[in-house]
Amino acid sequence: MSSFPLLFDLGTAKPTTRDVANTVKAGGSHALTEAERRADEARYQEVTCRSALNRVKGMPFDWTLNPYRGCTHGCHYCYARRYHTQFEMNADDEFASMILVKTNFVEVLTRELDRPSWTRDLAALGTATDPYQPIEGRYRLTRGALVALARGRTPVGIVTKGPMVVRDRDVLADLTRAAGCTVHVSVPTVDEDAWRLLEPGTAHPLQRLRAVRELADAGINAGVLMAPVVPGFTSSRSKIERTIKAIADHGARFVGYNVMHLEGGTREHFLGFIERAFPAMLPRFDRLYVRKYAPASYRKEVQAMVRVLQDRYGLSKRHTTQDRNPDAETATPEQAAFAW
Ligand code: SF4
Repeated sequence: MSSFPLLFDLGTAKPTTRDVANTVKAGGSHALTEAERRADEARYQEVTCRSALNRVKGMPFDWTLNPYRGCTHGCHYCYARRYHTQFEMNADDEFASMILVKTNFVEVLTRELDRPSWTRDLAALGTATDPYQPIEGRYRLTRGALVALARGRTPVGIVTKGPMVVRDRDVLADLTRAAGCTVHVSVPTVDEDAWRLLEPGTAHPLQRLRAVRELADAGINAGVLMAPVVPGFTSSRSKIERTIKAIADHGARFVGYNVMHLEGGTREHFLGFIERAFPAMLPRFDRLYVRKYAPASYRKEVQAMVRVLQDRYGLSKRHTTQDRNPDAETATPEQAAFAW
């Protein structure tokens, strides 16, 4: 693609993600005139990708896989919002309403996995978008990727808020046998008010927990990420306790958590949301998020509270993943009495 407005003068060829970025830079997202508007009011732009596996360093996985970019779940705290700026789109509304669909994703991934040099390192699916957001029901790119990964005997970890993941339990079982597979279902809270406010496009938390139960019953290593804990919305002891109890009741094989962090476009979006909807809370967020992470003392309090409650509901006997922030070290249970 040369330049806007020649975006769709390419016969049947679809634009690349770079083409899309160039077009949006020149004319805004409205210049994506072939992006299809669907019933959920989001627009979907089909694109082609050159590579599917994306190498990462310093993470507990080696590669990331994202068949979509943008996410109609639209969580206000989503750290992936800032990645939308790579396509010259904003981290606010456009992150949740202009979705890029990499239609050749499975084909490209299959080619990469077939390379003799492929070392079958751990891949993470859904680090910059939810691989089971509603449009997956139409394109089935996530399912196709899982089939390719099973065939390529490549271990995978999945993060999702989409109960649609149970659709693929047959492939996930294949992957479990072939290479290993872990499904992290994200359920930050079971509190309905917080859910509605913070995660406007997602399925009900209990629906997600039922998905965990179904996957675990099918022999898949499925657990819950209670992440992020959002100060003032999901952080009270009673809300964390209800959430951990519900996670335990649904047979999660592990539980992880972290405290919300804010940077880049995510920071601007989240604080803007607070300013518009809950202005009285803004000074507290300003104090708590002087930097990217909430203070270590705060995170230690959360950690202590979570540990106490994990013990109470028998979750500490199962595998637990914890806040990976370097200074989130052990705190004593007595500290776990904060209110916000
Ligand atoms: S579901 Fe995940 S990727 Fe989608 S908006 Fe929410 S946090 Fe972000």
